[in-house]
Amino acid sequence: MFVYADHAATTQMSETAIAAMTEAMRTVWGNPSSLHTVGQEAKVALENAREEIATLLGATAKEITFTSGGSEADNQAIVSAAKLGAAKGKKHIVSTKFEHHAVLHTLNKLEKEGYEVTYLDVHENGLISPDEVKAAIRPDTALVTVMFANNEIGTLQPIREIGAVCRAAGVLFHTDAVQAVGHIAIDVVKDNIDLLSLSAHKFRGPKGVGVLYARRGIRLFNLIEGGAQERGKRAGTENIPAIVGMAAALKEAVENLEVNTAKITPLREKLITGLRKIPYSHLNGDRNHRVPGIVNFCFEGIEGESLLLLLDMKGIACSSGSACTSGSLDPSHVLLSLGIPHEVAHGSLRLSIDETNTEEQIDYILEAVPEVVAYLRKMSPVWEDLESGKRKHFFAE
Ligand SMILES: *Cc1c(COP(=O)(O)O)cnc(C)c1O
Repeated sequence: MFVYADHAATTQMSETAIAAMTEAMRTVWGNPSSLHTVGQEAKVALENAREEIATLLGATAKEITFTSGGSEADNQAIVSAAKLGAAKGKKHIVSTKFEHHAVLHTLNKLEKEGYEVTYLDVHENGLISPDEVKAAIRPDTALVTVMFANNEIGTLQPIREIGAVCRAAGVLFHTDAVQAVGHIAIDVVKDNIDLLSLSAHKFRGPKGVGVLYARRGIRLFNLIEGGAQERGKRAGTENIPAIVGMAAALKEAVENLEVNTAKITPLREKLITGLRKIPYSHLNGDRNHRVPGIVNFCFEGIEGESLLLLLDMKGIACSSGSACTSGSLDPSHVLLSLGIPHEVAHGSLRLSIDETNTEEQIDYILEAVPEVVAYLRKMSPVWEDLESGKRKHFFAE
């Protein structure tokens, strides 16, 4: 059996998105900046996609800027808000310890340029409290950036409440919503969001394309200099097929949100219940406040990397955390931010499912994972120490 359970890393494009994209490649291949008919046809396709995406987010078309993906949108949102703040003498930013690296590395860069960043602690359950955001805001705070849903553990933050806190304090609020858009209901107005990043390949659209939503009146600074595309905020000829594919994928995801959630949630719960039966295992992140498809466990006494390689041999594609950090030997900064010690954080497994997964696949995972964990523990000196009492268990049995 083959099971793809790594949808938080990327998804397979939906047939609807592939069809929309292929059609666009054939029919609207013009340059939307050209004044002739071929160009203007491409322009219409571009603006229709913009309108569609705006409507699905509760935004207006002018508030939508197309980017090369989630990372670029995060970079541009944060750098823009930082520059706007600096112009008013505000050089303080509030964020969290478990953001995606597209956010964290942008903040690190700003710190080197003289900005000050407060990184909020994440509670043990993977949640950030709006009260702590409120307490961290200072008179010189320019921006709060908190992710909507965490890409490793799947916890959903109280975004609307955090947004309200920021609004009341007159501080801009950005959210990296890459793991949330298309997976849970979002309305940028009701959710009090000023800036939002999304990426098409996380909701069955194409890779290399995303959106930065910026509420009307918020000035964006461009990262890429050149032509006047995207109202001067992002130079370069627009990738129309990808943008059209993204709009089709988002429409499909939003229209099927309830049906998909109703299908995925019981599968996820079955997965959690089954994996919890493994001794000294631990579900990372709050059981209830999470996106439908992401499950993250720690198993004491093993290496997540070996676990995922053995699972791959059994036909199960999953991850030990974030795709961006695999390949490095450092444990996940997300798990460490929850207070999980290094040696335990190493034994993590992320399974991320979507509506294309079946119950048979979940059963297969629940057969394979306990087997592989037991096999790895048999060979693990750390597990031996835990069993003999030389080393203390972190999680209660
Ligand atoms: C995948 C991801 C990104 C990066 O998006 P790309 O389109 O791959 O650049 C950013 N933030 C989160 C939370 C993600 O999961």
